[in-house]
Amino acid sequence: MPRPIEALVHPAALAHNLRTARRHAGDARVWAVVKANAYGHGIERAFEGLKAADGFALLDLAEAERVRGCGWRGPVLLLEGCFEPRDLELCSRLNLWHVVHCAEQIDWLAAHKTHEPHRVFLKMNSGMNRLGFAPQAFRSAYARLNALPQVDEVSLMTHFSDADAPRGIAHQLATFEAAAGDLPGERSLSNSAALLRHGAAPGLRNDWVRAGILGYGSAPDFPEHDIAHWDLQPTMTLQTRLIATQQLQPGDTVGYGSRYTAERAMRIGIAACGYADGYPRHCGTGTPVLVDGQRTGTVGRVSMDMLAVDLSSLPEAGIGSAVTLWGQGPGGAVLAIDEVAQAAGTIGYELMCAVAPRVPMRAD
Ligand SMILES: *Cc1c(COP(=O)(O)O)cnc(C)c1O
Repeated sequence: MPRPIEALVHPAALAHNLRTARRHAGDARVWAVVKANAYGHGIERAFEGLKAADGFALLDLAEAERVRGCGWRGPVLLLEGCFEPRDLELCSRLNLWHVVHCAEQIDWLAAHKTHEPHRVFLKMNSGMNRLGFAPQAFRSAYARLNALPQVDEVSLMTHFSDADAPRGIAHQLATFEAAAGDLPGERSLSNSAALLRHGAAPGLRNDWVRAGILGYGSAPDFPEHDIAHWDLQPTMTLQTRLIATQQLQPGDTVGYGSRYTAERAMRIGIAACGYADGYPRHCGTGTPVLVDGQRTGTVGRVSMDMLAVDLSSLPEAGIGSAVTLWGQGPGGAVLAIDEVAQAAGTIGYELMCAVAPRVPMRAD
């Protein structure tokens, strides 16, 4: 029998979260962002739940081919555009829309031979300082693109650095408006956090929103808000079983480094999940976990293949008990990935993208 650990992807939850995105998006169309193999869920597994989106946005050309392989004939957007000139051939062949964020990408387009002109999203660096044309260079890039026979429609795009945080989006929005406010073309400005938190911001207009993390049941502004607040459901469950129990006496320690010492007699369970499965080693004692759908905490250090959980309040639990590391547990119990991520000093995005290849994953 294989180790009991597995990851489940929940198409119904993906579809639910997409509906939540639509409620916030108003008239704007919704890109389902499926980069990084659909945030670790697997593009093919996530597709079923996300196919009601208006388009799919991602970075990797091989992943774009996989979206087409799912039978998707609608819009596909390359969020970083092309990495080298010959990528444009695949864009022509698969009818991919692509971001243009630098002058070289315009040069490549100008030299590209195609019968079908491309739809492009011209990206402004409005303050994130990652990709995009500086505001003062944006209009000339726009004019140059517009004049190319290889280009069909030019849309406008920027990306917010602080949509989930106190600084907000107003400063970047002002920069964008000042430099491009009067340019014709559809616009795509908001990511998940901007969509949820700044939907009503004055002057924020989107024709396309880019819904990433919210689709996967993680709150972009946790712990200020959690998934229940935003009406989101976990889309990935990491689950395993107890493979042993131990009875501790006062003074007994648990695991490598003896990081936990029992103050009283207590029982712990050993779950078949460790950092080699993608569960973060940085999670200390007390990280929330569900055993048979009941909330308890981890005990001591996470090791490569196992971790310990506190069974003090779970006298019925034993070998074979269901352990939910994150996601949807038995009996409707929910453990948001955000809580586990917080205990590890990271964000839900990182955990869902890092489930190890040795963990079997399937759609439920
Ligand atoms: C990843 C990404 C998104 C999605 O961000 P979320 O925070 O997951 O919603 C949107 N836009 C761009 C350019 C991205 O790279």
